[in-house]
Amino acid sequence: MRNLTAAFLLIATAGVAAETPDLTMQTRIRQEEFRNSKVMEIASGLMDFVGARLTGSPNMKRANEWTRDKLTEFGLSDAHLEPWGPFGTGWSYESCSLRLLSPDVVQLWALPRAWSAGTTGPIRGSAVKVKLETKEDLEKNKGKLAGKFVLLGDTPELKPHEKAQYQRYDEKSLADIGQYQIPGGTPPRFTREEAVRRRAFNRALLPFLAEEKPLAMIVPGGGDYGNFHVQGAGSYRKAEQYPVPSVVLSDEQYGRIARLIDQNKDPQLELDVRTHDYPDAQTFNTIAEIPGTDKRGEVVMLGAHLDSWHGGTGATDNGAGSVVAMEVVRVLKAIGIQPRRTIRIGLWSGEEEGLLGSRAYVSQHFASRPEPPEEERDLPSAFRRNTGPLTIKPEHAKLAAYFNLDNGTGKVRGIYAQENAAVVPIFEAWLDPLKDLGANTVTMRTTGGTDHLSFDAVGLPGFQFIQDPVEYSERTHHTTYDVYERLQRDDLMQAVVVMATFVWEAANRPDMLPRKPLSKADMEGSPSPGLRPPSPR
Ligand SMILES: [Zn+2]
Repeated sequence: MRNLTAAFLLIATAGVAAETPDLTMQTRIRQEEFRNSKVMEIASGLMDFVGARLTGSPNMKRANEWTRDKLTEFGLSDAHLEPWGPFGTGWSYESCSLRLLSPDVVQLWALPRAWSAGTTGPIRGSAVKVKLETKEDLEKNKGKLAGKFVLLGDTPELKPHEKAQYQRYDEKSLADIGQYQIPGGTPPRFTREEAVRRRAFNRALLPFLAEEKPLAMIVPGGGDYGNFHVQGAGSYRKAEQYPVPSVVLSDEQYGRIARLIDQNKDPQLELDVRTHDYPDAQTFNTIAEIPGTDKRGEVVMLGAHLDSWHGGTGATDNGAGSVVAMEVVRVLKAIGIQPRRTIRIGLWSGEEEGLLGSRAYVSQHFASRPEPPEEERDLPSAFRRNTGPLTIKPEHAKLAAYFNLDNGTGKVRGIYAQENAAVVPIFEAWLDPLKDLGANTVTMRTTGGTDHLSFDAVGLPGFQFIQDPVEYSERTHHTTYDVYERLQRDDLMQAVVVMATFVWEAANRPDMLPRKPLSKADMEGSPSPGLRPPSPR
């Protein structure tokens, strides 16, 4: 009996070669990055020189061209822009001034929401406060908003910050992340039904506003100390353009005007906002390669989304991931590697609008599904359903792995195995020489919200790293202060070394990374959400 077990173990383990990380390469990667890093230089180029990168805007195109030229300069091959789309309407703003004219004169801190209309010169009028959340609210307010500035929503209540505004994972929180969470255990913040209802309401709001003709819609920014969130209004789709000007205002100033309205002081506002629309905007991903040698037909991809919102310069979301990925390929070229597999970088656009660029790339290269019906679009990715059968292309068999970085400036603490048990021991072996850099956790958990999902959704091994949160959700994510100063140099350099290690190992191991099996529902499309559940973060 004992002998049989031993024999069985021998057979069972014989097929799995021990994963031995390349320590010489580890030293070379560290030497290049820790002594000759260009990551902050690339970061300044992208954030200071190019700036914010809203998909479909002229700046996004500049970012695509700038990254393509940089990657060429680093010595990569075939750096090019790959078009995707149709996207819809591009948008940018030139200037925005919102002032309180009475009972006091004040310059306010406001920025336009993407895809909202501009004004033709300054417009002036009274401000009112309404709630527009349901179709009944629209009925109730019919005929009341014309010629008014409309404050949409409650007066924010701001409390002092009791906790630190930044976070690094400690051993306990990493141990928690390392524990798998059985899906459905914790109820989501809102349900799919609620997401569908909100989407339907937001569409119904557009013709109401077009008819009603308020001067502008003003929303609170959801921040404090002058920092606020800026995203979009309506949509980039032709039929869903926001028909009136709409601005985000800092919470403290929104509160002041809201109180003046409550006290019947009839606050007067003036808005002058200049915006530009670019109908049928062309959209691109930036792609470049380090060609492989004996296995050059197989590809290891790394990437991040290059697009951003327009309140800051998209430094932590996701300039950070983009410049780390660019620095990874620069380092690998600089030390003159000859990878067995081809290494390909993808810098995606359209991520903020629903992973559009990476989904299009996956459809064009690896596997596609029929376009989702109207009601599925714009739902958070965790609620989206697989629509119809998967058509698999030949390149699907050739992608060894995709590694994504998109959770801010924080250093890498490990990686989500995305429920792929077979990669866990492999990743653990690769992390072994990276322990002294704080990266040592492999979790079976999935994580969502970014471009590795586009690969995962069609059965390709796509992964996102675990990163220290730093100030991401508290301060920088989609805010006016998502700028270069919030990038942490040491964290980015560490992330470069970890990502370069993973890319190198994946490009050189004897076999491609093991994949999760594609279920029947994955292949045929299913009525249940097609993408994996989101992580609790
Ligand atoms: Zn984002």
